Amino acid sequence: MSCIFCKIVAGEIPAEILYQDDDVLCFRDIAAQAPTHLQVIPKKHISSIAELEESDTDLAGKILLTATRMAKEQGISDSGYRVAINCGDQGGQSVSHIHMHVLGGRQMGWPPG
Ligand code: AMP
Repeated sequence: MSCIFCKIVAGEIPAEILYQDDDVLCFRDIAAQAPTHLQVIPKKHISSIAELEESDTDLAGKILLTATRMAKEQGISDSGYRVAINCGDQGGQSVSHIHMHVLGGRQMGWPPG
């Protein structure tokens, strides 16, 4: 298994895990770009959102709702936060396993770089 996020799912490399269930995992980003920077991922390996299929509809919804809940739990919901999914080379994706960035605790800029 070469996927770094699959290794986190398997417990083969450490991460600060904040939540997990059978389908999803939430952990702190190792190189936080904001005071709060979380990753929400499916435990199932899907390399990018470009690879999502109709059969992943429930899982895709669960990732989003996990981000919503984690933002509340981490205290960034009232002030606002950003959810971002990078996809592919020009989208800036560096880890080939779907991950939803949840960033908060500072003012975000727009457009993103
Ligand atoms: P992206 O550039 O959208 O693919 O985002 C990948 C994210 O994964 C980056 O924000 C990295 O800091 C983060 N990351 C990479 N390796 C780890 C790790 N071992 N634990 C936590 N976050 C990681």
